[in-house]
Amino acid sequence: MSINWFPGHMAKARREVEENLKKVDVVIEILDARIPHSSHNPMLDEITQHKPRVVVLNKVDMADKKETDAWMAKFRSEGKYPVALDGRNNQIIKKIEPLAIRATAEIFERMEKKGIGRRAIRAMIIGIPNVGKSTVINNVAKKKVAKTGNTPGVTKQQQWIKAGEQMELLDTPGILWPKFEDEITGRKLSLTGAIKDAVVPLDEVAIYGIEFLLAHDPDRFNTFYNINVSASDEIVDIFDAIGKSRGLKAGGNEINYEAVTNRVIYDIRNGKIGSYTFDEADA
Ligand code: GDP
Repeated sequence: MSINWFPGHMAKARREVEENLKKVDVVIEILDARIPHSSHNPMLDEITQHKPRVVVLNKVDMADKKETDAWMAKFRSEGKYPVALDGRNNQIIKKIEPLAIRATAEIFERMEKKGIGRRAIRAMIIGIPNVGKSTVINNVAKKKVAKTGNTPGVTKQQQWIKAGEQMELLDTPGILWPKFEDEITGRKLSLTGAIKDAVVPLDEVAIYGIEFLLAHDPDRFNTFYNINVSASDEIVDIFDAIGKSRGLKAGGNEINYEAVTNRVIYDIRNGKIGSYTFDEADA
């Protein structure tokens, strides 16, 4: 579920995140592992300033393993604490907590030197819609706490939930808007389900997906749809081939292009064809 982000929503979301940031020692940013660059809102860097950051590359089950490793290395080189995981797995806190401990070690050492007694590490989850924030929070809490809806400004009594042995987590995530730097970013966000289908024209999204797969994994693409096409074919011929193979007809023998578009997006979005990462770590 996502909302249309108007400037008022953005200002409100930013204010809410800024308020909550004051309460925490470490930020746990959730990204979609398939689009670690496009699912990051750079404003977060501005408002968190030097707060330590754990970066969760979520939905790793649907991302390309090699690319995930490259992204992990990149985030480490930036002084962040990355971890790749599937937010639905109930062991995730065992992966997240040790990183939060390392990320905050210096802060707590400084506090101890000043004679301030040890307390739990305080953390909050932040990310754009649909990256898996509620899944992670609910999983850590072992119950349904986070409201699965993406409405900034709906205030709710916040609570700290125990997360591991030494950490406490705010039960409401910080929600940021998906930032479109350019058309390609919009297509990637749509292809992975981060933004509503009405925002970017779906034919552009499907064509982007097809071109990506034909450039990166043509054999798998052809096998999956039981077709034989290549990147040099006209896009309409590729749509025809998929439509024929999948029986997506509009009546008579006409191909139903809308159905082909929806099918391709569904298959890529849900990882049916394979596991792909659309943002390159070294780009
Ligand atoms: P939020 O808007 O950031 O709170 O996102 P949600 O937690 O509501 O998750 C969005 C969708 O992604 C849901 O359908 C989840 O089941 C799914 N999801 C979350 N984490 C993962 C994951 O690691 N792998 C896969 N395949 N799906 C996930």
